[in-house]
Amino acid sequence: MDNTCDICHQHAPAGCYLCEGCAYRMHTWLREIPRHLPLLRDSLRPDTGPAQRGGSGRAHSPLPVRIEVLDLLGPGHVVALPDPHGDQSVGVPLAPLLYGWARYLAAELPSVRLDEHGTVRIEPCTGPVARRGSSITAWCSWLDAYLPYAATRPWAADMYEQLEAVLQRIRRITHTAPRRHPKDAPCPSCSAFALVAVDDEWHISCQACSVRLTPDEYAEHRARIMPALAALALRIGAQQAAAA
Ligand SMILES: [Zn+2]
Ligand SMILES: [Zn+2]
Repeated sequence: MDNTCDICHQHAPAGCYLCEGCAYRMHTWLREIPRHLPLLRDSLRPDTGPAQRGGSGRAHSPLPVRIEVLDLLGPGHVVALPDPHGDQSVGVPLAPLLYGWARYLAAELPSVRLDEHGTVRIEPCTGPVARRGSSITAWCSWLDAYLPYAATRPWAADMYEQLEAVLQRIRRITHTAPRRHPKDAPCPSCSAFALVAVDDEWHISCQACSVRLTPDEYAEHRARIMPALAALALRIGAQQAAAA
């Protein structure tokens, strides 16, 4: 393999199909999904609002649940059903999606045990067991714990894309987006004050020239450049005060 990330085509560590930035994004998504659950459950019932008189009423009674939320929280198939006319609501629900990936991962995960003769046997796992139960939160934790292994499998990008798609569906319902945090040091490449950290991103990226820095690289760059910038600002301030 060529050590290129299947998602962003940047350099990936040896033996991995995802770079550390894309693996980190998946890690934050698996921690984010459980945080949406209370809001998703609250969103299950449609907001019916006041009754309307007159001719603008509905032809049918409203459904007692919001379909797009039920699609996420309900039971369902691990594989998306064929939808040739495009009239089905969207995709695989959360729980089967997460459990499906856990089963898939466990089927390839080497399990080491001693047989009755004391010989070490290395075999695939029989199945995933989440010690904290079988909830969506438990499967998110399970997958998160095995992410370093998942990143070494050729299907890692499929898992990434499905988690990304399901999180986009969730965020559309809960009206949330990852927060952006502008950084105070200028970009080391283009000098613009355009470096931004985003909640689910490992790298700090420049919005002007798309340079990426790891948190350590940013901290080093900031420690180097900020004292000089502060001294410059003080000098300009003193000159302006003297001229006034
Ligand atoms: Zn990547
Ligand atoms: Zn830049």
